[in-house]
Amino acid sequence: MIGSLFDRLFGTPLPPLQEGGPGTALLQSLGSGDYGVLRTAAVTIALTRGAALLDDLAAQLPYVEAARARYNTDPKWIRERYELDFVLRKLRHWRDRSGCLCQLYPYWMHYQPEREIASGHLLPIATGVAEDGWGDTQDAACTACGRGWRCTDREYHAPWWEWSPLPQR
Ligand SMILES: [Zn+2]
Repeated sequence: MIGSLFDRLFGTPLPPLQEGGPGTALLQSLGSGDYGVLRTAAVTIALTRGAALLDDLAAQLPYVEAARARYNTDPKWIRERYELDFVLRKLRHWRDRSGCLCQLYPYWMHYQPEREIASGHLLPIATGVAEDGWGDTQDAACTACGRGWRCTDREYHAPWWEWSPLPQR
């Protein structure tokens, strides 16, 4: 009871940050309590495949977990939870060596195929129209593991992108 009151008034204290690594500024942003700052950092983390950066971030998972826990108490923090939950998923995936980072595409609705192609993470295969007629599709192959993906443009209040694996050939 005292704990939850404390959380609401002051926010859960974050554990000390091991500073000086490539992820320090991003971690500080995730813990900033400012949605715009947090979101910008989350986007950077979602888009990177940089091993040194991901190593540093994954080594400080307890800091990110504590930053995420501050948003447990109020339903209005849905955007903060969405972004931080994805950051946690990606960092745990990296820490656990769970496979190629392209496997995370279905879990963050802001991955855009054009941006992934421009970053060299995907090679385009073909474009088309979704089977249900709602949205354009981009088929592409991951440049790291060769896995094929279909990405469909969607719209619900705002644009988002739906990813599904292409059948293995
Ligand atoms: Zn891949």
